[in-house]
Amino acid sequence: MSKQEDIQCSFCGREKSETEVLIAGLDAHICDVCIEQAYQIVSEELSEKRTKKGNFDFEIKKPKEIKAFLDQYVIGQESTKKSMSVAVYNHYKRLIQEKDENEVEIEKSNMILVGETGTGKTLVARTIARMLNVPFAIVDATVLTQAGYVGEDVETILTRLLQAADYDVEKAQRGIVFIDEIDKIARKGDNPSITRDVSGEGVQQALLKLLEGAVVNVPPKGGRKHPEQKFVEIDTTNILFVAGGAFSGIDKMISKRLNMQAVGYNAVNKGAEIDKENLLQYIIPKDLKEFGLIPEIIGRLPVLTFMNPLDAKTLRAILTEPKNALTKQYIKLFAIDGIELSFTEEALDYIVEKAVVYKLGARGLRSLCEVVLTDAMFDMPGEKETSLEVNKDYVVHKLSKTTLNKLKAAS
Ligand code: ADP
Repeated sequence: MSKQEDIQCSFCGREKSETEVLIAGLDAHICDVCIEQAYQIVSEELSEKRTKKGNFDFEIKKPKEIKAFLDQYVIGQESTKKSMSVAVYNHYKRLIQEKDENEVEIEKSNMILVGETGTGKTLVARTIARMLNVPFAIVDATVLTQAGYVGEDVETILTRLLQAADYDVEKAQRGIVFIDEIDKIARKGDNPSITRDVSGEGVQQALLKLLEGAVVNVPPKGGRKHPEQKFVEIDTTNILFVAGGAFSGIDKMISKRLNMQAVGYNAVNKGAEIDKENLLQYIIPKDLKEFGLIPEIIGRLPVLTFMNPLDAKTLRAILTEPKNALTKQYIKLFAIDGIELSFTEEALDYIVEKAVVYKLGARGLRSLCEVVLTDAMFDMPGEKETSLEVNKDYVVHKLSKTTLNKLKAAS
């Protein structure tokens, strides 16, 4: 054996021939496997140290960079993406500021997204969490009730986050919570019930302290089924809350307000055309109050933005453009079986047309694609055919075999 081949990794003793790369130092060598292991140890140690110091192991991206990341996954919704990028930037700036008694204190920038179901509210929040690499939990406000009533206490919101953080309290404390259907806990007038706080106001009151920032006792297993469990303390000061809701009917309230302003003395919109097709863009906090959210909740969700309804052009883009667009996912799935999948433009246009006609929204795109491709996904693996071009006729044929109800149920 030549001298060159005698060289070994000084850490694990692997021969040069057993390694991919062996790097030479002054009197020692290190192999690729040991480098990777050492790298992992270093990053874990550093991240632990940073967390202990209250610092973060991610670098805060500038609003423009955050928006650029969102652009890769979320089509349109420019206004929300911009507000969200600024809010997230400010939120994390707030976290790194030195605590100083005399300093100006930056308040939390919790958000509220108003828009029809399926317009991407959850997607925006989830994408932000993915970018920041922080735990993310989605909770449904409709199951929440005031303590003492049937349903889940608001603290269980944090149980979900704790679970998403693999029970790492530090991590959970800087996560993001998406509270869906916040509009369902709006005050609905007098409707007393003994078992369920249907008025919603009690839940809103209970939510206040979470949103604002407080140390909360959280049942790690959630619910009331495990009375023996020890509570975990979670400080919500640095948790970012994003609430979302369809607020159906709020457009009428906005319209009424805009009309009143238009005839009033200090008409703001004098001369300016009002886009009646998309009234949500004019939403202001007062409209949320009129809808039934209590002023304190509105105050603790200071960033208010709206989602645009999805038109055919946007749906078409959603089908093909996002980084993990549906068509890209199916192409990948087929490719794993060695099958080259492609779609003609007309086929995609037809799928979008059906989603629009049947008012299936963005979620409907998925159920439509599923119906179109299920047979092929069942039949083709293991067969000789190595390509499939989905054209309009193919789509028409496959869709003719399903019913609208089935599609709606799947959306
Ligand atoms: P919401 O929370 O408003 O009900 P979601 O965020 O759950 O809606 O959206 C449902 C699905 O529709 C998402 O998973 C995504 O695939 C798609 N979708 C909706 N809006 C968009 C958008 N603007 N860009 C890309 N995909 C979207």
